[in-house]
Amino acid sequence: MIAAVLVEVTNKNVDKLFDYLVPSSLESEIQIGIRVEVPFATRTLEGFVLEIKNSSEAKNLKEIKRVIDEKSILNKELLELGKWMANDTLSSLINCYQVMLPKALKAQAGTNIGKKYEKVYYYHPEVEVKLNKSQEEVVAAFQKKNPLSRSELHDFSKARLDRLVEKRVLEERLVEAYRLEQEEEKAVRYSLTVEQQKAVDTMIQTDKTVSLLHGVTGSGKTEVYMELIAHALKEGKQSIVLVPEISLTPQMIKRFKQRFGNQIALWHSALSEGEKYDEWRKMARGEVNIVIGARSAVFAPLQHIGFIILDEEHSDSYKQDSSPRYDTKQVAIQRALYHGGKVILGSATPLLETYARAKKNVYQLVELPHRINGKALPRVEVIDMNQEIRKAKGHFSLPLIEAMKNRLEKHEQIILLLNRRGYASVITCHQCGYVEKCPHCDITLTYHKSANVLRCHYCGYATKVQEVCPSCHEKSLHDIGVGTEKIEEELKTLFPDVHVIRMDVDTTSRKGMHEKMIKAFAAHEADILLGTQIVAKGLDFQDVTLVGVLNADTSLMIPDFRSSEMTFDLLSQVAGRSGRSQKEGEVLFQTYNPNHYAIVCAKNNDYSRFYQEEMAIRKVMKYPPYYYLVSINLASRDASLALLEAKRSEKVLAKYLDKTIILGPSPASVFKKYNIYRYQLILKYQHQDNLHEVLTKLVDYYAANQKIKLELDFYPLHL
Ligand code: ADP
Ligand code: ZN
Repeated sequence: MIAAVLVEVTNKNVDKLFDYLVPSSLESEIQIGIRVEVPFATRTLEGFVLEIKNSSEAKNLKEIKRVIDEKSILNKELLELGKWMANDTLSSLINCYQVMLPKALKAQAGTNIGKKYEKVYYYHPEVEVKLNKSQEEVVAAFQKKNPLSRSELHDFSKARLDRLVEKRVLEERLVEAYRLEQEEEKAVRYSLTVEQQKAVDTMIQTDKTVSLLHGVTGSGKTEVYMELIAHALKEGKQSIVLVPEISLTPQMIKRFKQRFGNQIALWHSALSEGEKYDEWRKMARGEVNIVIGARSAVFAPLQHIGFIILDEEHSDSYKQDSSPRYDTKQVAIQRALYHGGKVILGSATPLLETYARAKKNVYQLVELPHRINGKALPRVEVIDMNQEIRKAKGHFSLPLIEAMKNRLEKHEQIILLLNRRGYASVITCHQCGYVEKCPHCDITLTYHKSANVLRCHYCGYATKVQEVCPSCHEKSLHDIGVGTEKIEEELKTLFPDVHVIRMDVDTTSRKGMHEKMIKAFAAHEADILLGTQIVAKGLDFQDVTLVGVLNADTSLMIPDFRSSEMTFDLLSQVAGRSGRSQKEGEVLFQTYNPNHYAIVCAKNNDYSRFYQEEMAIRKVMKYPPYYYLVSINLASRDASLALLEAKRSEKVLAKYLDKTIILGPSPASVFKKYNIYRYQLILKYQHQDNLHEVLTKLVDYYAANQKIKLELDFYPLHL
């Protein structure tokens, strides 16, 4: 017997199968999709068995050393999915398989059970077998509660339980200890509103593979997801729920656990690699029906998928930004097609591309335009900093200070957002808020200090930095840097007795700090929570009645074609943090651009108007969803080599891609990192049949070159 093995040869972007002899002692263990250890040159490497055959062209075959898994970890579907992904993203197959699997490649089957697990017995009354008296006694213990943990069954010997397990009256499982604790809680079941029920019915009945659930914050999307999952369960099907970051969604997970209890597996970064491996096997054996996790949970090895749900589908986190640069949505669709299942995309502010597809009837569009119980969205006011800056105290306008005083007197809480996206290298006028944009690409120019120029990092357009502002003629052009520390100081001067929690990358870098701060704020240990984007996400504090955005503009200046969209999302999200309980909420945006549509639409909670305005610009500027993008980076330790090769690539591409616009080469947005320099080419196209073919050639050309690396992204969210 001979096995063709896909081996991981690091540093090479090439896939090659190597034939190995299967020693007779291992013949019974070898399966397609199983991992093995093989000798390779002077080393021992791991690889996947992809074919089993009787003969080989190669001579002097070496023997497989060891079989790693007890059962193949990549089933037929996942093996195919990997191949599809390798082709879709032009990455190596081995890379795709690695990203699909938990890293615990070296984990021995079954030996990684951490102490968080407990043995639990499930009683199956439906199993009809004769029981003796002693066994009846055991079963009687399950009258009040089912399942019971080993410690709750301490009256009975293990042998006594084992015999019932053999008869399948009891089922033994290892369960994470904390899951059990929550079973005591009773699930709150709401009857769905008419709107929710209609949404559920539409998504079940539609013949479309993908549905967009567009619902304002608080419209009850989570409840809708759960109903869909329950429907799938009834049909014997399983579901995957994807969330942007699992540590930021404890409240949502709690609701799922209350309703579905032990049928859920959580897939998140806090699991040790050993635990991940165990969870993986549980899923593969069909012991769980619902998997909740971040991006990589899309590869959960479930056997009968009903729904794959992407909550907050607009989130950047669904895009893998290292090779293979897959788009989770595309993977989800691919899996749904295989299983005859469906993909549900949920968001209050869908990605423009998603909404456009729904509008064109490619996706089923389902809208939830109202909050549950008719609760109003908070009142938003825009403060025009052009008027207010002269009277302001530091970065705080008088109306914001007044509003804060008012809330503090009532012992209510405040969230302040310092928008720091796009912070790094943008020059703006501190008098009027002017920023200089690229005349060709409509994105903000990036400041290059050493050369004292402003440059477009898409097309390379460059211009000298001006002394006076071209708009208001004041000598006030500076970079936009203000940090949370400075704001904290200003707060201390304004409100000396008030407690402030500052939440940013610096203060939350230590593990557990983020959660600790949230708890402290919830317990009223501080009156003000000051932070960067982190404070906008998913937080739910009952007593927050004021949200202040200090600088709504900075994200508008991010040198990226999505800057308006990101601003609209961020402002809509943070506004939703105010007035979540009975007390009415208030939101203030400080801005130099009070008439910018991203800010006006966020104020009015008007997604549809924002969509129209933004689409018009995307059309003129030839951006998605009107055009597709590909980003190509040439990366090297040698900056001039990277530039030279980028220029050569540009020539080759220009020759073969007749219907594609090529921008660059220009320094990538992250030009230098870990001593690697990157030059970027951007492709914009609508139809280009030979695109894959041409790019494959380019990838192959650079694969052998050690000095330069080609990085290809077919689904760049940002450029
Ligand atoms: P979204 O995910 O759209 O922001 P949620 O699903 O979190 O909204 O729902 C918002 C609130 O409304 C939650 O507290 C939820 O428990 C409650 N809720 C949802 N559906 C119903 C319903 N049918 N009846 C009563 N309350 C509901
Ligand atoms: Zn440009």
